[in-house]
This record gives sequence, C-alpha cells and structure tokens, in this order.
Amino acid sequence: MPAKIIDGKAFAATVRAQVADHVAKLEGDHGITPGLAVVLVGEDPASQVYVRSKGKQTVEVGMKSVEHKLAADTSEADLLKVIDDLNNNTEIHGILVQLPLPKHLDEDLVINSIAPEKDVDGFHISNVGLLGTGQKSMVPCTPLGCLMMLRDHHGSLSGMDAVVIGRSNIVGKPMAQLLLGDSCTVTIAHSRTKDLPDVVRRADIVVAAVGRPEMVPGDWIKPGATVIDVGINRLDAPEKGEGKTKLVGDVRYESCAAVAGAITPVPGGVGPMTIACLLANTVTACCRANGLPEPEGLTA
Ligand code: NDP
Repeated sequence: MPAKIIDGKAFAATVRAQVADHVAKLEGDHGITPGLAVVLVGEDPASQVYVRSKGKQTVEVGMKSVEHKLAADTSEADLLKVIDDLNNNTEIHGILVQLPLPKHLDEDLVINSIAPEKDVDGFHISNVGLLGTGQKSMVPCTPLGCLMMLRDHHGSLSGMDAVVIGRSNIVGKPMAQLLLGDSCTVTIAHSRTKDLPDVVRRADIVVAAVGRPEMVPGDWIKPGATVIDVGINRLDAPEKGEGKTKLVGDVRYESCAAVAGAITPVPGGVGPMTIACLLANTVTACCRANGLPEPEGLTA
C-alpha cells in the first residue's frame, strides 16, 4: 500500500486558523493583540524571504508584526540594545532574531539576550534546559511542527522506536527531547554513527534532519514506518529548463514512500509547519505573559 502523504501545507493552514481564532478571542475578550518582532541583520536573500513570509503570516492571523532590519555591519552593542528594547516592550510577546547572523556577531550571546519568555524560536539556553528537563518551555518551531504532525497521524507515540538523524541544536536535539517527552525510545544518529542503515531500519519513526539531499533511501526504512523529512536542499534542475532549481529533502522520496506507512513531502511537509508553529508560539507566549489559558494543541 502506498504511504499516506502527510500534508504539512494543509496542516499548517489548520494551525494558522486555530491561532487566528485564539488571537481574535484575546482581542475580543481582553483587548490584547499578540505581537511578534523579527530582527534581521544584513541582506542574506534567503533570510529576507523568510522574514517577509513570517511578517505576512503574522498579520494574516491578526497579530501585530514588527520588523527591525539592521545593516550587516551593525555592532553587537547596537543589536543587543534593539533586543533589550523589545524585551521591555509590553506590546511584543515574541522576539525572533533571524539566523545566521553576520560572522562578527556572537550568535549564542545574542540569542541568550532575548527574554526567555519571549524567545519564540526556543533557542535560549533557559528554554533548552526547560525542554530537556520536561518543563514548560518555548519549543523550537521546526521540531514542534514535526511533533504535531506525528501526534496527528499516530495519536499516542508511546513506546515507538524513533530515530532522529542529525544532532543540531535547532532541529535534531530538540526533536529527540520532544519524542522522549512523548515516551518514544529515541536514538539520535549523526555523522559518526556506525551502521546508520541498520539503525534507521529499527525505527517506527524516522526524522531526517541532515542537510544532505536525498541521503536516506527506501531500503533503510522499516515497512510501515513514518518518515518525517526536515531537509530542504535546493538542487539544479536542468530538466525543468535552463537555470531552474528544485527543492528536495534528506530522504529519497519515491523509494521511501514505496515502503513507509506515512511520509512528509518536500516541499509541502515540514517547511510550512515551521512558520505556523512560530505563530503558535507567539500566541502561547502572549497568553503566558498575561496569565491567560494557553490555546490547546498548539504547544508540546
Ligand atoms: P546542521 O548542519 O546543523 O546539522 C546536520 C546534522 O546532520 C549534524 O548533526 C550532522 O552530524 C548530521 N549529519 C551530516 N552528515 C551526516 C551523515 N552522512 N550521516 C548522518 N548524519 C549526518 O543542519 P540543521 O539541523 O540545521 O538542518 C538539517 C536540515 O533541515 C537542512 O536541510 C536544513 O535546511 C533543514 N531545515 C529545515 C527547516 C524547515 O523549516 N523545514 C528548519 C531548519 C532546518 P554531526 O553533528 O556529526 O556533524
């Protein structure tokens, strides 16, 4: 039987609708509008696209969107001042500093200067610690989106064998923590893992977050397993015409889909969920800041 395609685009639309409902309720019942500030340093074209998209979707769900676009040579002190002002701004409930930052800026220092309760990317060391100890935190958006799709597909994940390929701080590690939190037996694989195909073959859930185009073939996948492909890799696509490109994930879609029980496509899988979860985190942060009940189903 062909794998069920987990439609991240449709799921993200549902999440955005839930966020919009909650935003309208906050506005109507309490006169509060959640606010998200995005800080962009420099002119990286991909970052500019992301920031534009985040701003557009923030406004579409009824939230306030603020963008700070700073020059590439902005000093650390000036950037920290912008963040400090946002930390103290009661109309702003979420702050996101678009990564990567120019080389002269210390990314860890900058991220850890965001007030943890406004850290809607979930990268602040306090949120990392809270997640690792199973406490209420801000959860990184991409792994949160993966978890939501897995819960939606499976209901309970308890007792399932999960393999996360990749151990980055923004995807692999928090993904593993979330799966552990849902009582999976979790293996984190990385570039030094021995016998990776055998490790992956044991998994009921495979999350690929490697950054290597189509690295995982179908014969690594246990029949019926769920495959979540986080990878976003742009490849030349001369077959589509001169200078054309295409996006592929970290798994070989056709061969994995032939074996898996369910799979996320690229594009249209994990990608759209990431911004939807950013909006979800912002509304959650706003509720927490105001001592109001959090929206159900939008947090880990
Ligand atoms: P990183 O480069 O930070 O981490 C990649 C991880 O993959 C590392 O832990 C690395 O291991 C591991 N790895 C590399 N090569 C191999 C290999 N041959 N076998 C096993 N493991 C390997 O990437 P990110 O976590 O930031 O991103 C991963 C992918 O997800 C990228 O394609 C990125 O574009 C995408 N992404 C997508 C998002 C979305 O919204 N859908 C959001 C964020 C990322 P080691 O630690 O040993 O070097």
